[in-house]
Amino acid sequence: PPSFTYEFKTGMYQGTTSFPTGVYIDGEWRDGANGTTIDVINPTTGKLITKVAEATAADVDTAVKAAQKALDTTWGLNASGAQRAELLQKLARLMEENVDELCALEALDNGKTFWWAKAVDVDFSIQTMKYYAGWADKITGQTIETDEKKLIYTRHEPIGVVGQIIPWNFPLLMFAWKIAPALATGNTIVIKPSEFTPLTALRMVGLIEAAGFPKGVVNVLIGYGPTVGQAISEHMDIQKVGFTGSTLVGRKVMAAAAASNLKSVTLELGGKSPNIIFDDADLDQAVSWASHGIYWNGGQACCAGSRIFVQAGIYDKFLAAFTERTKNIKVGDPFAPGIEQGPQVSQVQYDRIMGYIESGKAAGATVHTGGERHGTEGFFIQPTIFTDVTPEMKIVREEIFGPVAVLIKFTDEADVIRQANDTVYGLAAAVFSQNINRALETAHKLQAGTAWVNCVNQLHPNAPFGGYKQSGIGRECGEYALHNYTNVKAVHVNLGHRM
Ligand code: NAD
Repeated sequence: PPSFTYEFKTGMYQGTTSFPTGVYIDGEWRDGANGTTIDVINPTTGKLITKVAEATAADVDTAVKAAQKALDTTWGLNASGAQRAELLQKLARLMEENVDELCALEALDNGKTFWWAKAVDVDFSIQTMKYYAGWADKITGQTIETDEKKLIYTRHEPIGVVGQIIPWNFPLLMFAWKIAPALATGNTIVIKPSEFTPLTALRMVGLIEAAGFPKGVVNVLIGYGPTVGQAISEHMDIQKVGFTGSTLVGRKVMAAAAASNLKSVTLELGGKSPNIIFDDADLDQAVSWASHGIYWNGGQACCAGSRIFVQAGIYDKFLAAFTERTKNIKVGDPFAPGIEQGPQVSQVQYDRIMGYIESGKAAGATVHTGGERHGTEGFFIQPTIFTDVTPEMKIVREEIFGPVAVLIKFTDEADVIRQANDTVYGLAAAVFSQNINRALETAHKLQAGTAWVNCVNQLHPNAPFGGYKQSGIGRECGEYALHNYTNVKAVHVNLGHRM
């Protein structure tokens, strides 16, 4: 199987990384069943970084068998909660020891800035491992009182072999959010990272091995959605699939699950999150947070605050300050100090976002600032503000997944809540006001799985995250995610009823 060695020479990290880039099944690296590879492109330059082995549907089959064997012998009910906790803790420590290398790989492969990868992606991934390590020996059921001649108790058993499919926007964090709760609860895993950003998942394999997880517990297959993703979704021996990605593909995953073995499905999908700024907001703070809300990670966040509603009394001042802030965002090399926004992840995403910008112009919206390519190489786009938008425009209704904000002026409180909820999505929403009653009343009326008050884009391993409406099914993170990965068994014991 291929391997990858790379020397990071400039910017915020200098060092060498080296690891295999094969298909990882049953504790071994191999070539994909077809012997083919996938090109990994550097979004900063548009040039090839390396090639990784391409997994196929046949590899999914082999991986499922390995995962089943591990479940039956070394993992599942064969490893105590304390043992599972210890391995997750060790994995967290190993990630801490390699934190800068993981950040550098994220920046290289995805284009996110090294600084943000360090502040959020890698740090939160480590915290996620630790948090679920804490749960691993606390997965307990209930005793249920009925009558004195009966004992009923529940067990929260692992579901079995679980499939996991993740996107490219937070490659390591999504990997952590998926594997940590599944491992804590004793499941074995076949995971498919995005073909656009495979590097951190492949690097994690070495750390998972070093932590001491038995072979076959975590199998990592880089491959394309319609082949490997589809094979996972329709596999008869995979009992659960956890998917993060677009609503379009989430539908396909659910359909494949329904058509095969009715495996349980959790979906974390897209969003078009409203950010409501009332007249009585702290203007300076609202501008800073709104900017973070849409431009963080180049706008490639499922929860991005992409529809910014500003009340009429503060609108002009907000627009002036938000425009200045937007123009001052430093776009460039993700390894350079002070850079806030790197390239978009791929040519496909670059083209998609520019297509939305064109559609906004064609529909009569005004590009208030930005709207163009940044620089001459790689997939960079200027932070962009649209004004003069109307509710039916594509740029208002659809997830752009780029650094493109739409600004909407409102007057009436009830009307802004109606507009904010006028979307098929329901992932997140934010409200800015210094009147706590107004802020909380609004937060409670917004149809979203996460509501932020005087902040945006806040995630925490301890807090549930997921969508209302077409933003998904189920919750990741927190105690809630444990339910995704356990089957509940009620055991009835007869203590004296005679037939
Ligand atoms: P995507 O849906 O194109 O791909 C996601 C994953 O699904 C990838 O691994 C891809 O290879 C795979 N896939 C593609 N076709 C498939 C198929 N037919 N069957 C099974 N798997 C298939 O999404 P993306 O472009 O990688 O990521 C962007 C999307 O992810 C956005 O819509 C974003 O909002 C969403 N997202 C949601 C969350 C969340 O927690 N709600 C987090 C991050 C990203």
